Amino acid sequence: MASSDFGGPNKEREPVMICPLCPIKREDEELLEAHIADEHMEWYPWQCSICEKKRATVEMLQEHALAAHREQESKAN
Ligand SMILES: [Zn+2]
Ligand SMILES: [Zn+2]
Repeated sequence: MASSDFGGPNKEREPVMICPLCPIKREDEELLEAHIADEHMEWYPWQCSICEKKRATVEMLQEHALAAHREQESKAN
């Protein structure tokens, strides 16, 4: 039994966020969002009508609306 413990590329557990639009990597989600906002601004076609924030998809915009505004629609049973 030969345990291969030679000095290979040790994987560090740092969270690497990869930009979905280009090969750029960022260590934080904040940095990645800043990069996306800086480089891929046109990627957010959906704009919130309440706070004017932009999201990439309508689903993300709905998630934002739920998280940020919690729009309460009175559903009649
Ligand atoms: Zn990018
Ligand atoms: Zn909003």
